[in-house]
Amino acid sequence: MDVKYEAWETPSDRLKDVVDGLRHADFLGANVTIPHKEAVLTMMDEMENLAREIGAVNTIVNREGKLWGYNTDAQGFLRALRKDGEFDPWGKHVIILGAGGAARAVSVAILRVGARSITIFNRTLERAQKLASTLRLLNAEAYALSWRREGLKEAISRCDLVVNCTSMGMKHSPGEGGTPLEAAIIPRGIVIFDLVYNPIETPLLMEARKAGARPIGGLPMLVYQGAASFELWTGKKAPLDVMFASAKKALHNEKA
Ligand code: NAP
Repeated sequence: MDVKYEAWETPSDRLKDVVDGLRHADFLGANVTIPHKEAVLTMMDEMENLAREIGAVNTIVNREGKLWGYNTDAQGFLRALRKDGEFDPWGKHVIILGAGGAARAVSVAILRVGARSITIFNRTLERAQKLASTLRLLNAEAYALSWRREGLKEAISRCDLVVNCTSMGMKHSPGEGGTPLEAAIIPRGIVIFDLVYNPIETPLLMEARKAGARPIGGLPMLVYQGAASFELWTGKKAPLDVMFASAKKALHNEKA
């Protein structure tokens, strides 16, 4: 295909101009990442419901000069959870660690497929409370709790799935090398999904393995959300095997 995918580092004060520029016939669209996923919402002409509910756009599609906003993080997360984790969220109790953009996408996604309850732990409690209130507006059973070991231990003993939506453990972040949970409080058999994809084997996934839990890393979600964007832009099926191989190669090269 005669198409290029480029990284454009974009400061906030240039965001509106850069997004407007995507209306030109040369552009199929764009992905949007931290910290602009919320800001671009107001710059779209049309938006899918899911992106509106999540309150964040990670994919922009240019359709004859009209900009459409989508959120493929939610879809990528669910696909990884079902395919790589063989986990059906229907009726399940879920713990979300973190309350940023990724936590919002994951919470809305998992509610839409019938999760029974969502408990959010975040370093900054107010952000967790705000997210829980938003989820309750969608008729969810949602709780926000402050990040204390005892509270975490108690809640984890009653849940089926924990999703780490913080950047703890992410390479090149202040949380590099850290884990939000240790093996001692992780029950055997539950699913631990770490959104962090660099490194591929995060400290949290190692703790989950040690505890006999079922670990899922962030790489499949990253690839699936990219594949969903690709399909929106091109109308063609994404070459998942090529995408997985190049994502792994890129992470491996960084390690070397
Ligand atoms: P964000 O909006 O900046 O939110 C970051 C979250 O992490 C906040 O809840 C923050 O807590 C918490 N946090 C950061 N450092 C922490 C620490 N040292 N201890 C405890 N909590 C900490 O970022 P985001 O967009 O939600 O992304 C979160 C992570 O998910 C990133 O690592 C990102 O790469 C990953 N992600 C992966 C995928 C994928 O496809 N696999 C997709 C999206 C995101 P406070 O509120 O207290 O600051």
